[in-house]
Amino acid sequence: MPLIQLTNVSKSYTDPGSGAQVPVLRGINLSIDAGESVAIVGPSGCGKSTLLNILGTLDLPDSGDILFDGDSLASLTAQQLAAVRSQNIGFIFQLHHLMPQCSVVENVLLPTLALKSAPADALQRAESLLEQVGLKDRMNWKPAQLSGGERQRVAFVRALINQPRLILADEPTGALDENSAEALTDLLLQLQKSSGVTLIMVTHHRAQADRMGRVLTIHEGTLQ
Ligand code: ADP
Ligand code: ADP
Repeated sequence: MPLIQLTNVSKSYTDPGSGAQVPVLRGINLSIDAGESVAIVGPSGCGKSTLLNILGTLDLPDSGDILFDGDSLASLTAQQLAAVRSQNIGFIFQLHHLMPQCSVVENVLLPTLALKSAPADALQRAESLLEQVGLKDRMNWKPAQLSGGERQRVAFVRALINQPRLILADEPTGALDENSAEALTDLLLQLQKSSGVTLIMVTHHRAQADRMGRVLTIHEGTLQ
């Protein structure tokens, strides 16, 4: 069974000028298996973030259905969707969105507060993941004391802390220089393989997209 399956998903936005409906995604069919690494590419404004937000249940399609692990999300309440998200999905964005007043390890542990009961081994898990990304000796530092690449590594560890089934990454290397971007992609893929998590990443960098297991291109609202 696929981890996530989209059937005939469409999404339009209202043009604020003319008031017309502008289609962004048109009848998207997509099936992603557990453990896959998938890149989503396409020109700016083609709908990559819209698709990622729908995959992450942050946004709802106008029509079509989404199955997560075989269960339809269409009939869930906002609260039920939030529960699906916090238990199954980790997010990384272009900007790290770390809390500046919290230390590295406190930032990493924040998503565990959204769970009904935080796992007893959360701190050990945070330390182990920080070690795997080379930041264990900085777990009590503040985000401002880290480089851009190091902050994104912390954001990645935070996305993994609840042992999600799926990581959604929206241009995670977009604000980094080339070397840091490549190093972060190495780490993402290394941890993705060792943990078996499914990774879906929006990227502008073709070279990084080609390192993923599958590349999807959005063209005129459909996938190629
Ligand atoms: P990409 O990530 O590929 O750059 P987006 O998914 O962000 O593209 O946006 C696709 C199109 O949808 C753009 O034309 C954008 O202006 C429009 N759009 C995205 N979000 C909204 C919104 N909340 N309201 C209105 N239009 C939106
Ligand atoms: P990058 O090339 O990734 O942007 P930087 O030049 O920003 O890296 O940082 C290089 C190193 O210096 C990093 O390991 C970072 O942790 C450390 N560093 C950066 N800013 C500070 C700071 N304000 N206090 C302590 N260490 C810092």
